[in-house]
Amino acid sequence: MEPPQLSVDSTPFEDTSAEPPTPTYTPNRRFSDAFLAAIPKTDLHVHLDGSVRLETLIELAAEQGIELPATTVEGLKEKVFKAHYASLVEYLQGFQYTTAVMQTEAALERVAYEFAVDNFSEGVHYFEVRFAPQLHASAASGGRDMLTVLKAVAAGCTRARDEWNAHAGIGEAGGPPPFEFAIIVCALRMFQGVFSPYYREFCEMHKHESDHRVYGLASMSLITAAVAARREHGVPVVAIDIAGAEAGFPARDHKEAYDWAHKHFLNKTVHAGEAFGPESIFQAITDLHAERIGHGFHLYSADMCDSMQGDEAAEFCTNLVEFIASRRITLEVCPTSNLQTMPELKKSLLNHPLKRMMEDRLSLTVNTDNRTVSNCTLTGELRQTVDAFDMSEKQLKDCIIGGFKRSFFPRPYKEKRAYVRRVIDYYERLEQEMNVDRAPPSPVGII
Ligand SMILES: [Zn+2]
Repeated sequence: MEPPQLSVDSTPFEDTSAEPPTPTYTPNRRFSDAFLAAIPKTDLHVHLDGSVRLETLIELAAEQGIELPATTVEGLKEKVFKAHYASLVEYLQGFQYTTAVMQTEAALERVAYEFAVDNFSEGVHYFEVRFAPQLHASAASGGRDMLTVLKAVAAGCTRARDEWNAHAGIGEAGGPPPFEFAIIVCALRMFQGVFSPYYREFCEMHKHESDHRVYGLASMSLITAAVAARREHGVPVVAIDIAGAEAGFPARDHKEAYDWAHKHFLNKTVHAGEAFGPESIFQAITDLHAERIGHGFHLYSADMCDSMQGDEAAEFCTNLVEFIASRRITLEVCPTSNLQTMPELKKSLLNHPLKRMMEDRLSLTVNTDNRTVSNCTLTGELRQTVDAFDMSEKQLKDCIIGGFKRSFFPRPYKEKRAYVRRVIDYYERLEQEMNVDRAPPSPVGII
């Protein structure tokens, strides 16, 4: 979920009790915590502004004279960055504070550096960090343009990557694979002038256009800047995404920008099927050429189809699932984030369509979405996923290696293949050394 949207559905969750129970699943004994921590992992769906360290948020706010609801980590966790949220609006509250402190190059570089360190520290060897440069830019002449924003984030990630790759054994034959990263730029499905200085000026400059036209123009502006940053300055921008409120803000508003990205060999992912139905996913794939889908949560929700009902909607969903499966369009699944924003899950992954996605052999990855706002780690996301679905060794391995294979790796394909090979070799070495239990699935398994 990202970033703050003023028009989101404010319906509270069904259970608004102060502290809902944390779901417990039967521990999957095939995988120890140590094994899940040690294996090389990817995070292909993670927002920079949803993953700012709280200590850093407090320090930057103090330096910049920005008022926060609390000035201690405990206070912020109590008031804003909670373990559980009562509504989507509450979930989104934190972004206004993180984006507020990320309005200088130094702050962006620091946040990006720490973000990369936090990922590498838990064995996320490759991540694709996403954010909306226009939320951190100022369009005024002499101000902070999108290139400056992108370069600052790339500089922070590069500093961390180079430090970590200098550790003994990294990248050596038989050892852990090198640490790598790439950047995905997010356009917003909708925005208002209050979102950032850039958007304020953009809305003012285009005040005679319709709202939907303005959203499309902004994503065109983003994608041309992103391609220039990659071409002319070596910033590893690999893909475009659209984030933000789905219902009422269709993907087709951004078709021109996605066509342009497509023609300039940039990859495409789209937040879709998160707050809206299967038709949103279909539109992302057909109109925007999406190769990956952020969440895809409502892939099977035939009842959420707008233009059809009953058997027709059910058949549409079946065909859509087949299309996604056969073309290996990858779903970027974010378990904790979904638990926090989808009341129908009743706070248990057992109600998540991930079970059906695996049964249908879809290409999927497990991701964090927002490390701070969702209060999670990639290792923790894997733990609860392997437990909830009693995943087998093959299922976990497919998921992990699939993350590397389906990544938008920023360098030539031959290098990507060699990198994935190293990952597989190291993964298999850990399987041997850490005695992954190869017992058959237990009777409580649901796959
Ligand atoms: Zn997201």
